Amino acid sequence: MKVKVGINGYGTIGKRVAWAVNRQEDMEIAGVTKTRPSYEASTAIREGCPLYAAHAEDVDNFEKAGTKVQGTLDDLLKKVDVIVDCTPGGTGAKNKELYDKAGVRSIYQGGEEHTLAGISFNALANYQEAWGASSARVVSCNTTGLVRTLFPLQQAFGIQKVFASLIRRGADPADKKGAALNAIEPSLKLPTHHGPDVRTVMHGLDIQTMAVVTPTTLMHLHCIVVDLKKEVSEKEVLDVWSRSPRLQLVSGKDGIKNTGQIMELAKDLHRVRGDMMEIAVWKDGVKTIGSTLYYYQAVHQESDVVPENVDCIRAMMKLERDNLASIERTDKAIGLR
Ligand code: NAD
Repeated sequence: MKVKVGINGYGTIGKRVAWAVNRQEDMEIAGVTKTRPSYEASTAIREGCPLYAAHAEDVDNFEKAGTKVQGTLDDLLKKVDVIVDCTPGGTGAKNKELYDKAGVRSIYQGGEEHTLAGISFNALANYQEAWGASSARVVSCNTTGLVRTLFPLQQAFGIQKVFASLIRRGADPADKKGAALNAIEPSLKLPTHHGPDVRTVMHGLDIQTMAVVTPTTLMHLHCIVVDLKKEVSEKEVLDVWSRSPRLQLVSGKDGIKNTGQIMELAKDLHRVRGDMMEIAVWKDGVKTIGSTLYYYQAVHQESDVVPENVDCIRAMMKLERDNLASIERTDKAIGLR
């Protein structure tokens, strides 16, 4: 019997998680919610996802628009083993009581606080912490990106200290809100929250971060400096990353010099929606001086957390004991690697 999964909030992250879940052999989507009868509601139905109204008062709007819903979120909660909350940041906290009352396991996204679930998740770094848990939070796109490259470095060489500058995208491509069109805005509260967020999965890591928001919608870009516990060569670092899951080593020499070209690569690889779920690291942008490592990486904010949600379901539902085995199953099913 497949595990039954619900998605509350079929937006940027929700629709991608629904797609990925439906490609796994051990889980399936039992339903997704929308607040109104938009094009996304119709595409959910077309994708084979039973549609539910997020709130009872939304049902009328769906009926008037001729979009058939199977019921409300309350009805969906009766049909699922786990609900993945993909509502806008802060909304998940308001929904938790509802999920707990229905006796349903719940997964939240990076827009919620760590304290909401008490477990923040990354499949590579701390899969076992979510084993059998009743709730967990998949960390944000930026935190996921930082952990994907830092955790393998910590395992292989040990880390003294990390400093990262995050060049953040101003909005997602389809957003109508977001950063100014022609301005760069630094985060004035320093260090930024990204360092503490990494520590929710890599406990005790000494990491400080700064961030600026820029007028781009494609990807985030990170400039990272790591003091390792031993001297290493660039080759040793690249060897470690080439064996690590969900990383895409790219090269300026091959013509990939910017985030636009990474997005083009994703399209050329026939990735669904043109998503690049791996973190892209520039091979020729890696430099070591003694035990200090410098590198750049790019994060596709709309999709890197998607496979993490699948693995989080597997850990919470005790479907696969080994994290690397879960990662492999997830990635194979969605065409990564
Ligand atoms: P989004 O705005 O694209 O989608 C949210 C969806 O939830 C929309 O379909 C909206 O109609 C629906 N919704 C709004 N209020 C609701 C409610 N009360 N009940 C049910 N549904 C409701 O947002 P998103 O970008 O997918 O973000 C969702 C979560 O994922 C946030 O916590 C965010 O911080 C996190 N996240 C976003 C990104 C990103 O770059 N987009 C990356 C990683 C994590």
